[in-house]
Amino acid sequence: MDFPTHLRIQNLSVSYGDHLALKDVSLDVPDKKITVIIGPSGCGKTTLLKSLNRLLDSVDGVKIRGNIFVDDEDIYDPRVEVTHIRKKMGLLSQKPQVLPMSVFDNIAYGPKIHGTSDRKKLSRIVERELRAAGLWDEVKDRLHEPASQLSVGQQQRLCLARGLAVEPEIILGDEPTSALDPQSSRIVEQRLIELKSDYTVIVVTHILRQGRRIADYLAFLYLGELVEHGPAEEVFAHPKDPRTRAYLTGEIS
Ligand code: ADP
Ligand code: MG
Repeated sequence: MDFPTHLRIQNLSVSYGDHLALKDVSLDVPDKKITVIIGPSGCGKTTLLKSLNRLLDSVDGVKIRGNIFVDDEDIYDPRVEVTHIRKKMGLLSQKPQVLPMSVFDNIAYGPKIHGTSDRKKLSRIVERELRAAGLWDEVKDRLHEPASQLSVGQQQRLCLARGLAVEPEIILGDEPTSALDPQSSRIVEQRLIELKSDYTVIVVTHILRQGRRIADYLAFLYLGELVEHGPAEEVFAHPKDPRTRAYLTGEIS
């Protein structure tokens, strides 16, 4: 490929018991771009994201084959520490999952776990990440209120800020706007677009229009198979595989 890759997925297969959820998926994910993975419900999108973060390790009956490299480190190498891998990636899930504590503490939580205890330093991190997530102006006077009192759209941006606070390299979003109203969705999309200058971003969505708005690279997953991938404009305009064409035209959904 003609771009620096940050993450390489090679021949990844994942099964839950007898059910093969991902079939021999290989994908190079470029650095500092947004890669969007589209595909209908049940095609393996969440499974793929979870495998990147080693969140499948604890699932009963799961079998994972293949390799995933972040830079040149194989994340499934038994010598690699899971916490080290997770720190490299911030995951936004479908529904915002704020911690049952204040806005401030939601963000300070990660840095504290990783050893920062100085209050001033924590305050600086909190402000910086709230700004990066586009939330500072809305919550600067509510830092010590419970995070659960924020709107759902604000909570999702708080989760983004919390993820950024541990200085990851990769941002993973699993249908990160599916619980949000259109306006909040656009704000989150906009933040992701801005963040790609510093991070590798992977967003899973089943909303084609969202893919068109934010994707630099597009990958189409169907029934566990990576059918097609490439620069987004190219795949949208000239899909090569009949299944991609059918999905883009709405014939399969
Ligand atoms: P998507 O995110 O694209 O909707 P998922 O990755 O969640 O798809 O699921 C892919 C397939 O794997 C589905 O058929 C789903 O039912 C199955 N699956 C997902 N998680 C589990 C699990 N923990 N145990 C068994 N089957 C699962
Ligand atoms: Mg899913």
